[in-house]
Amino acid sequence: MDLAPFRFELAGFLAHLHHVHGQAREELALPHRWPPKHLPPSPARPRQHTHLDQRALRRMEPHVSISAAPPKAVFAAPFPPRRGWCDPAGGRWYPGACAASPRRDLGQWLTRQETALIDIGANLTHEDFARDLPAVLERAVAAGVRHIVVTGASRVGSARALDLARSHDGMLSATAGIHPHQAADYDDDADAGLRSLARDPLVRAVGETGLDYNRDLAPRDAQQHAFERQLRIAADLGMPLFLHQRDAHDDFLALLRRYRDRVPNVVVHCFTDTAGALRDYLALDCHIGITGWICDERRGLHLRELVRDIPANRLMLETDAPYLLPRTIRPTPKHRRNEPMYLREVCAQVARDRGEPVEVTAANSTAAARAFFGLG
Ligand SMILES: [Zn+2]
Repeated sequence: MDLAPFRFELAGFLAHLHHVHGQAREELALPHRWPPKHLPPSPARPRQHTHLDQRALRRMEPHVSISAAPPKAVFAAPFPPRRGWCDPAGGRWYPGACAASPRRDLGQWLTRQETALIDIGANLTHEDFARDLPAVLERAVAAGVRHIVVTGASRVGSARALDLARSHDGMLSATAGIHPHQAADYDDDADAGLRSLARDPLVRAVGETGLDYNRDLAPRDAQQHAFERQLRIAADLGMPLFLHQRDAHDDFLALLRRYRDRVPNVVVHCFTDTAGALRDYLALDCHIGITGWICDERRGLHLRELVRDIPANRLMLETDAPYLLPRTIRPTPKHRRNEPMYLREVCAQVARDRGEPVEVTAANSTAAARAFFGLG
C-alpha cells in the first residue's frame, strides 16, 4: 500500500491542529503580553518596488497543506499539541521533550516540500564570503532558502550590500545602516549617503542600527546620536527598521518609542534579551528576529522558553552569517563560518521549542518576512 498521500494528509492536518491551537492560545493568553496597538496608517512610501523579480518571489510561496478530511489515525496525536514533535517525513507524533525529536532528513524534507525560508539578516559582504559567494548562494537555495536580506552595517558595507542585491535581483535584497560599533563615524556625510542608498527600491529597511553597550566599541552618546538619526531616516522615508540591541534595553526602548508610530515596521534582530524586553518590544508591535543563538545549549536556553511567546506573525528567522554558527549542526562542521543554508537549523530549533511542526514555523516566518520587507 502506498502510504505517501496518507502521510501528506496527516502532516497537513497536524499543521492545521497546531494552527487552530495557536490561535486559541493567542486569544486566551495574549492580552497582557500583546496589547492591541492602534497605529496610524503607514506613511505612503515614496517609491515603487519594481526591481524585484515578482515571479521569483511567488515561487517562494510556502506549501503548507491543510487537509479537510483527516485520516482517523490522526486522533492518536495528542491534542492540543502543547509539547512534542511531528516528524513530517513519517507523520509520527513524538510527545514530550523536543530534545528527543528525530532530526534526520530535516533539511531534505524542507527542500522536497518546497517550503521556502527567508534569511532576514546575513552579512554577505563580509570578507569571509569574498571567495565563494556563488557556492554559498547555491547551497542556500538547495537548503530551501529562497531569499536573503543582506545586512548593511557600515557606509561602505551598505553600498556593497546594495550592489550584491542588484546583481542577484529576486534572490537578494539589502538594508542600509550604520552599526552601533561604527557610530563614531556617523556624520552629515554618512547621513546623506544612507538616505540616498535607502531610496533604492532594493533597500528594504534602514539598519542595522541600534545600541550595543555590551561591547561599547563606540561612546554611548555617539551610539545614541547615530541611532536617532537613522530612526529619523526611516521615519522620513516611511521605511522599516532593522535594529540591534545588546545590554542597552532602556535607552534603546526610550528612543524607539519616540519614533515607533512614524515607521511601518520594526524588527529587533538577533533577539537574545529577557522576557521583560520581549514584552516591551511586542507591546510596540515590533517583530523579533531569531538567530542560531537559540541553538546554543550554553547561552540560548532562556530563548527556548521565550520563543513560544512570540506571535507567529511577529517571528522571523535569520542566520547573522558568518557569525553564530548553530551548535546543533550534526556532524559538527570543521569550520566556524555560518552561512544561509544553516537557516534550516534555526527553523528546526524554533519549531521544536514552539512545539509545532517545522513546516508551520517555516511557512509562518516566511509569510511574516515577506510582509515585513514587502517582498511581493
Ligand atoms: Zn546585530
